[in-house]
Amino acid sequence: VAPGPTVALGDRFARDLPELAVAWRAEEAPDPRLLVLNDALATELGLDPAALRGPGGLRFLTGTAVPEGAAPVAQVYAGHQFGGYSPRLGDGRALLLGELADDRGRLRDLHLKGAGRTPLARGGDGLAAVGPMLREYVVSEAMHALGIPTTRSLAVVATGRPVRRETMLPGAVLARVAASHLRVGSFQYVAATGDVDLLRRLADHAIARHHPAAADAEQPYLALYEAVLEAQASLVARWMLVGFVHGVMNTDNVTISGETIDYGPCAFLDVFDPATVYSSIDTGGRYAYGNQPVVTEWNLARLAEALLPLLAEDQETAVGIATEALGTFRRRYSAVWMAGMRAKLGLPEGLADEVAEPLATDLLALMRDNRLDHTTFFRRLGEAARGDAEPARLLVLDLAAFDGWLERWRALAPDADLMDRTNPVYVPRNHLVEQALTAATDGDTGPLHRLLEVVARPFDERPGLERYAQPAPDAFGPYVTFC
Ligand code: AMP
Ligand code: MG
Ligand code: MG
Repeated sequence: VAPGPTVALGDRFARDLPELAVAWRAEEAPDPRLLVLNDALATELGLDPAALRGPGGLRFLTGTAVPEGAAPVAQVYAGHQFGGYSPRLGDGRALLLGELADDRGRLRDLHLKGAGRTPLARGGDGLAAVGPMLREYVVSEAMHALGIPTTRSLAVVATGRPVRRETMLPGAVLARVAASHLRVGSFQYVAATGDVDLLRRLADHAIARHHPAAADAEQPYLALYEAVLEAQASLVARWMLVGFVHGVMNTDNVTISGETIDYGPCAFLDVFDPATVYSSIDTGGRYAYGNQPVVTEWNLARLAEALLPLLAEDQETAVGIATEALGTFRRRYSAVWMAGMRAKLGLPEGLADEVAEPLATDLLALMRDNRLDHTTFFRRLGEAARGDAEPARLLVLDLAAFDGWLERWRALAPDADLMDRTNPVYVPRNHLVEQALTAATDGDTGPLHRLLEVVARPFDERPGLERYAQPAPDAFGPYVTFC
């Protein structure tokens, strides 16, 4: 048996919070084959890409060879799923291999998804199919390139084990890297145990790991909550600005770090419409594009609820403190969103919000009414800022309304370079992602690797890549994602 790479994996989570860690091992992968490896990320983590490509590396990346001293665990958490509370979820098909320090000294989780059933698997088979794991790889790496906080993807290894879904599919393990895997659901689980000492230990762990400044605050646990509020308000604002639909914003998929996590039925907007839902399971539209800020606020209310015992001695005081803090969410969200919209529209810094905000909201209404492609249209506005409004005008039906808007906006002398640094040319468009995943499932990873190269430099328009910048052909039809 080839040995895995020698790497020092920490077990800080398991040591600090043994109540939330179930020691477990991955299932054997009968025929591991590397589908994609993130060389740059491997290097950042101090891992040798060449070693990861070898047989020992593949055993490491599938969890079947555990480095000496490492202690993989499944993490326990709870969560509200589509509004209904599940008291015990946890990693049903994932393992935390351990933590490692990256080249900047930051502690990162190395986590495997699709590594077999754990004691928390409930009805699930513990497995993952090649397509969804590659979707997470592509979309998370695109998000990173867009500058949006996210978990990262280190590798996807096909296991050689078939997975039963609607049809039989090839199985895979995703190696994921995160600031941590602490979630709102982690706090909910601990709060429900009634063990305030454990809740304090969890909060202290989160502070040390993600929001160390909170330790020095007058009320460290309130400061932790405010730091998560800020991180999540900023995150969802950035999703909105780039047209990202997460698809399954359950509280177990909301991180304490503020990183995007769990790319299941996610997608980027084609046509701008707040009512957009892609996920096949989101029949009520709870996680529609336009609902995401309010859903984040709701999820953060659940975090506040879980933290109440740490906020004050008596419940009433604690509720008052939490309510006041949560009351700052909308202001925090709007500040990030408005700053982002100013950049998307190339607006001058001194411009008053009273001018910038209606300009932005009027444009979005126009985009919705004219069924405009979100990514394409913002990019073409950059050309309008350079002097040529025709490429943008070509897309619009209601020209009278748009020309009126153009006149207001151009009078402000928008900065085209700022717009081009802010509005991506390339996002992982749904039809391109689908094509890449289908080809990879059939054994051809060529389209996947080309797509990855394109979305790795989202703002840098290159010749020959026109088809990556275009909306889906009509024949693609309405997009539905499954998870
Ligand atoms: P998700 O919606 O992907 O975040 O998953 C929600 C919960 O379901 C988590 O506790 C997962 O570990 C669990 N889960 C999802 N798929 C599977 C599977 N195939 N086998 C076991 N557990 C799963
Ligand atoms: Mg999840
Ligand atoms: Mg998932």
